[in-house]
Amino acid sequence: METAVPERNMDKGHAFYRLKTPDGMASPENNADESAGMEYSDGKGRRIFCAACGNTVTHSGKRISINGLHRHVFTNPGGYTFEIGCFITAEGCAITGDPTDEFTWFPGYRWAYALCSGCLSHLGWHYRSGAGAFFGLILDSLKEE
Ligand SMILES: [Zn+2]
Repeated sequence: METAVPERNMDKGHAFYRLKTPDGMASPENNADESAGMEYSDGKGRRIFCAACGNTVTHSGKRISINGLHRHVFTNPGGYTFEIGCFITAEGCAITGDPTDEFTWFPGYRWAYALCSGCLSHLGWHYRSGAGAFFGLILDSLKEE
């Protein structure tokens, strides 16, 4: 298996890296979705939001499987264990820091921190490789409607 991420999503992954603008963190593609009034009719599913501030982070329809699983449990070098879910997009996340492959949980992917764009809580990580990109979000930090 090469990857679970379609190549066309590379564009969306790159878009998240161009978000250092005064307009905030919403990508042009996501704005287009909302202006079309399709938020709940295009398969996005239920709203998934930041447990700390209520900011919309992603939607249940954006769940994807990486290496055959949506949920993964990892322990970082500091001994903290995280249960994360994989999402193809997370419009409510701000990606910060330089991508690195240090201690990566997904071989072949580099990661950067994904923060809530509403309150800057650490919600998880953004992973990218030459084949695609996705978010791994800490399930304990999210709530679902
Ligand atoms: Zn938040």
